[in-house]
Amino acid sequence: MSNYSTVLLDVDSTLSGIEGIDWLAGRRGPDVAGQVARLTAEAMAGRQLINGVYAARLELVRPSVAELALLAEAYWENVASGAASAVARMVQAGVRVEAITSGLHDAVAPFLARLGLREERVHAVRVRFGSKGEYRSFDTAAPLAVHGGKRTVAESMSLGSPVLAVGDGITDAEIRPVADAFAVFTGFVRREPVVALADFVVSSFADVERLVLGDEVRS
Ligand SMILES: [Mg+2]
Repeated sequence: MSNYSTVLLDVDSTLSGIEGIDWLAGRRGPDVAGQVARLTAEAMAGRQLINGVYAARLELVRPSVAELALLAEAYWENVASGAASAVARMVQAGVRVEAITSGLHDAVAPFLARLGLREERVHAVRVRFGSKGEYRSFDTAAPLAVHGGKRTVAESMSLGSPVLAVGDGITDAEIRPVADAFAVFTGFVRREPVVALADFVVSSFADVERLVLGDEVRS
């Protein structure tokens, strides 16, 4: 038995302690890193829409296919404590676990595979590369690169209810209208405007597991 049929998980600053785009920007020197980190913080706290921020950050960083493979490793090195066992137990209990992320598919999919989430459970943004693996462009039609995109993706999936969304950012809270509850994940970053929108505050994957599989009464 579980309290939720479906759990939608964020990746950056939730399943892993890093922000992928900030990590990539760190390889471009302090100027680019500073600009990208500022844009990320603005967007995740809800002070700027993700739309413009998304394109601006990627244009500053232009990651290669090789760098996205390195980022996949960095995600794993910074995996949230207890995330792998929590995902495994939820899946074992019959919960549908999906990752919905504005992160880049070629970096998040290999990371999530190590957490036991198959590719069809991964919703992310695709990047196009040139013949030498150099960055060309991102999929500008991807709903996950724009405001409200996580909600659009969640709506398109015909999910079994009740649905719990878990994440640290404002883009995760935006799923709330089409979910039954939103748990803000504060294990890495605590963003007060997001906490204010949450039904639950969870600071670890042990908390997530208790919320989903435990005896506590759900809201
Ligand atoms: Mg996040």
